[in-house]
Amino acid sequence: MHADGDGALRVAPLGGLGEIGLNCLIIEYGGHAIAVDCGLMFPDSSMLGVDLVIPDVEYLRQLGDRFLGFVITHGHEDHIGALPYVLRDLAVPVYATPMAAGLITARLREHRLDARVRIETFRPRQRWQMGPFAVDPIHVTHSIVDAVALAITTPIGVVVHSGDFKIDHTPIDGASPDMQTLAEYGSRGVLLFLSDSTNVEVTGTTPSERSVRGGLESVFVEAPGRVFLSTFSSHIHRLQQALDLSAATGRRVVMVGRSLVNSMRIAMDLGYVQAPLSLFAEVAELGSLPANRVTVLTSGSQGEALSALTRIAMNDHAQVRIEPGDAVILSSRRIPGNERTIDNMINHLYRRGAQVFHTRNAPVHVSGHASQDELATMLNLVKPRYFVPVHGEYRHLAHHVRLAHAVGLSSASTFLIENGQVLKIDAAGARADEPIPSGRVFVDGKGIGDVGDVVLRDRRHLSQDGLLLAVLAVDQKSGDLIAGPDFLSRGVFEEADAPRFFDVAREIVVATLNQIAPESRTDSLEVTEEVRKALRRYLGKTLDRRPVVLPFVMEM
Ligand SMILES: [Zn+2]
Ligand SMILES: [Zn+2]
Repeated sequence: MHADGDGALRVAPLGGLGEIGLNCLIIEYGGHAIAVDCGLMFPDSSMLGVDLVIPDVEYLRQLGDRFLGFVITHGHEDHIGALPYVLRDLAVPVYATPMAAGLITARLREHRLDARVRIETFRPRQRWQMGPFAVDPIHVTHSIVDAVALAITTPIGVVVHSGDFKIDHTPIDGASPDMQTLAEYGSRGVLLFLSDSTNVEVTGTTPSERSVRGGLESVFVEAPGRVFLSTFSSHIHRLQQALDLSAATGRRVVMVGRSLVNSMRIAMDLGYVQAPLSLFAEVAELGSLPANRVTVLTSGSQGEALSALTRIAMNDHAQVRIEPGDAVILSSRRIPGNERTIDNMINHLYRRGAQVFHTRNAPVHVSGHASQDELATMLNLVKPRYFVPVHGEYRHLAHHVRLAHAVGLSSASTFLIENGQVLKIDAAGARADEPIPSGRVFVDGKGIGDVGDVVLRDRRHLSQDGLLLAVLAVDQKSGDLIAGPDFLSRGVFEEADAPRFFDVAREIVVATLNQIAPESRTDSLEVTEEVRKALRRYLGKTLDRRPVVLPFVMEM
């Protein structure tokens, strides 16, 4: 740390460089620091029992009141999702656009933190000062409304952070990205440029959001039954297109799923959705409307276990059922790691008689991230002295560095850094500096019931409460128990007591399996989650402890 400052600018990612998600980047000058974004990552299959992952912000805690606050580029989970966790013990303001602020506030409310956190909203080109940093937000286009790039003026030069963006010249709301302001900064001189690498492996240009309209339209026109459309809840322009097509094809719109209803309400309050209220219908009206006069917008395009669409696919939703003739559009990217769950859901949807349209069989989605040509355009406009690629795995960052060289930057002015590494820039130039503490924190926020009890599960937790492993094999078709459950524990019971506890645990697992609806019994994720919850409840009640419970459900 550099309490008095040494005239140097330091840039240090806490997350998002070397991985997709967890975006959080510190900019430090004169002993003061701000952080751009604070996102989460959903766990991959190796992180069993973990609900989500957030960056370790110990370094920001160490800065104390020299840490001035978070500046948020847009409201996606990988940019705001960690805020409810890190703001528990960081009393700093959060600066965000209205849409992002609405989504953050909703999250904080769930965690009962909304009254404690100061959120300042800004609009593009409304500059403000944070210590030595003058922040100027610049409108960009992305798969969420209200996304910005940031031009941050420091005493030794301007840092431009692209946020997430693509260059969409024909966006749904007519608000093209503000290339002019970016070019003006470029011509006046930019010290450092940080740019989104997510789609750097894709050649050419990402098509406009408007280009999915045709693909969606043919489904809306041709589906003999209802049209179900699922996309990310905050993808307001995609949802707007679904509303427009519903109006054009005489369909009334029913919204199902809490996160979808939430973000639509926020967007409507802000005037970002153009639709007459008469277009919308209540879920209760579904039965009385002719099938070809209905659109159902739902959350759950990733096959998330508890989402509306998964429940509908499993015939496990109280109010909505799929009927033969219905069409389901998964209007979103398949997030790596979710492929199997999504395919399972698609299988269930077909089983109910629906036809399913998704990225691999229909033009129903375009990315919100810039491809190579747009990234090159951005580098040419901003013309930075130094360049650091952000938002990507190592291969994306490496590719983006190579692209920067092709655009004309020298290898002395491009830096590939990863989480915890520090780039120091001063009068003598740019170079690597002492790394700062960084890492991942695992959050287990489900299966406890009360949000106040959310456990931050790190190594400390494991060492204090121990581990219980449950292994069972189920029949792939029927979901019947074939073998096990067998148990293995560390640091939970005295060795002599373990068999007694295992006997009861075995009965609990069998009873839990019997309680799961036949529809869900073949869904190993659902079974895993139910078994985990039941075992945790049992151990909590009998031992008053919450060890890490890891069920392994093998399908045979
Ligand atoms: Zn992102
Ligand atoms: Zn994004």
